[in-house]
Amino acid sequence: MRGLHPNYQNYARILARKTLKTIQFDERLTGIMSRHVYLDYNATAPLRGQARAAMERAMEVGANASSVHTPGRTARGVIETAREAVGALIGTRPANVIFTSGGTEANNLGLEQAQALGCERVLVGATEHPAIGDAAVRAGLAVTVLPCDQNGVLDMAVVAQELAKPGRAFVAVMHANNETGAIQPIDALAKAVRDAEGILLSDCVQSLGKLPIDLQTFGPHMITISAHKIGGPQGIGALALAQDIPVAPINKGGGQERGRRGGTENLIGIAGFGGAAQAARVQLHEGHSADLSTIRDAFEMRLQQAAPDLVVFSKNVERLPNTSCFSAPSLDAEKLLMTLDLAGFAVSAGSACSSGKVSRSHVLRAMGIEDNLALGAIRVSTGWQTDADDVTKLADCWLAAYRRAQATNAAA
Ligand code: PLP
Repeated sequence: MRGLHPNYQNYARILARKTLKTIQFDERLTGIMSRHVYLDYNATAPLRGQARAAMERAMEVGANASSVHTPGRTARGVIETAREAVGALIGTRPANVIFTSGGTEANNLGLEQAQALGCERVLVGATEHPAIGDAAVRAGLAVTVLPCDQNGVLDMAVVAQELAKPGRAFVAVMHANNETGAIQPIDALAKAVRDAEGILLSDCVQSLGKLPIDLQTFGPHMITISAHKIGGPQGIGALALAQDIPVAPINKGGGQERGRRGGTENLIGIAGFGGAAQAARVQLHEGHSADLSTIRDAFEMRLQQAAPDLVVFSKNVERLPNTSCFSAPSLDAEKLLMTLDLAGFAVSAGSACSSGKVSRSHVLRAMGIEDNLALGAIRVSTGWQTDADDVTKLADCWLAAYRRAQATNAAA
């Protein structure tokens, strides 16, 4: 804990003394967390009221959806209602939604189909979530990484070259990046992959609820989604198909999910996913994304006016409306995170999914960002509880830390 701000040392000591179980029930820590301005929606979005209500109703059911008695059929009804809500959010038939334990499992399940679908090789984007890269290796096929430009966007010329090589390709490219928010040209990619008779899986975990997705017209053969990024619970997600594609289970078992994912369904999680999907669909139609991009753009302008050497990653390309990833030379993201945390802001450095430790982001590395910048990168991701005041205060707090770091660097 040496080198930390003294207040933070105290906070870190409290954390270090506690087991995870006691942390949950410690009012002091709960108090600290509830006072935070939460700006880490890309890691996990706060639970929506509709998701909570749906889960509370599902908790009352207490039966197995495979049972034929009335309580069992009630549980089945809860699951199928949620499946309809998730299908409606992404424009596909409910039967094409296969519930999994989250985005990670959905990506694994999708990639696992590569060989059965006649694919001989896998092409993955350089900025994919680790779930994709690791699953591609496990699929047992040769894996080629598709490079991106300095904005994190796929190089379509390389994609065309790779698709032209012999052997049917299974291509896995995310819709929007979790760290920078950069949006990939999925329409053009899907056309190229389909023309080459390949299969396209797109990880839509981050774009779900933030961008419109209609699987009837979108292009990928399959997408992956996760409830906790749209205000549903953690531990539930789905692999969703644009059309009727055979899917062999990784989890072999009782034939649930039409034989595509064995294991008793997570009734409560699925209900929560359905509640969140309904709420997200309404918000998407109401144009909430436009409000978020206004807030984000004002935030970045405030930073850039006071810190001329600030770099906003992927700023020159289409981005998720809620995401801002930025840095300035010679900053230390770990120290910044602690300073911001102490001041009451919950944000991320690099990818929070990876474990709570701050290490160099593979996304920024793929974009060719130098260490001097990459190691200070902070990701701010907003959502339905964010207002303009939250990000203005965050900008001022970050700028104060930036000025202190500049003064320290100048004195050294
Ligand atoms: N894909 C992307 C782009 C993500 O950002 C994440 C999580 O952050 C995942 C997949 C994994 O989803 P889950 O946490 O539901 O396993």
